[in-house]
Amino acid sequence: MKYERIRKIVLEATQEAVAEGLVKGTSGNIALRDDDDDVVAITPSGISYTGMTAGDIAIVDLNGKWLDGPYKPSSEVPMHTAVLRARPDVKATVHTHAMFATIMAMGENPELRPITPPQCEFTPVGIVPFTMPGSNDVADLVVKALGEKGRAVLIKNHGMFCCGKNMKAAMHAATYIEELALTTYYSKLLGVYEPMPEEADLAMKALIAADQAV
Ligand SMILES: [Zn+2]
Repeated sequence: MKYERIRKIVLEATQEAVAEGLVKGTSGNIALRDDDDDVVAITPSGISYTGMTAGDIAIVDLNGKWLDGPYKPSSEVPMHTAVLRARPDVKATVHTHAMFATIMAMGENPELRPITPPQCEFTPVGIVPFTMPGSNDVADLVVKALGEKGRAVLIKNHGMFCCGKNMKAAMHAATYIEELALTTYYSKLLGVYEPMPEEADLAMKALIAADQAV
């Protein structure tokens, strides 16, 4: 099988996302850029994750052109390839419609602030307005909101988009963003919302940047 390594990593991440409840049905999509070739492995469009095999994962180029695989790539491929083109530091991208991230992207919610120390790695989390899924518009908005260093954004009436230097990092971002959205949701509901003080957030970010966080 061509591109077996990146296809397997995407498949495993997809299974993990299902197990963690980050994706349901055929929603969400996950992509990984190959280190050597300028190709991207991405989940196929409209295919159930149950029973999916590595060979089912689509291969596209950095402009989203379908190169290999029995099923066409996710319709949201423009969002993934736009971020991979814009950010050479990013190798993996994860988009899900996870419930609490989707809830926190609505209304007048400001950007998410960290509630626990590990969440500091992934904030600030911007929110981009709704545009049609799969469009170049949403891809442009996500790239702009992520900026040079961003790890995650919420998309109104849609879900979240996360990225990282490898699949583990991108999946970590998705898991912590859903946790951050969930803790923000419940603490606001109970009237006890109290994000980490800004000073502590900045101190944690410095530790994480220096790779000294425990
Ligand atoms: Zn979507």
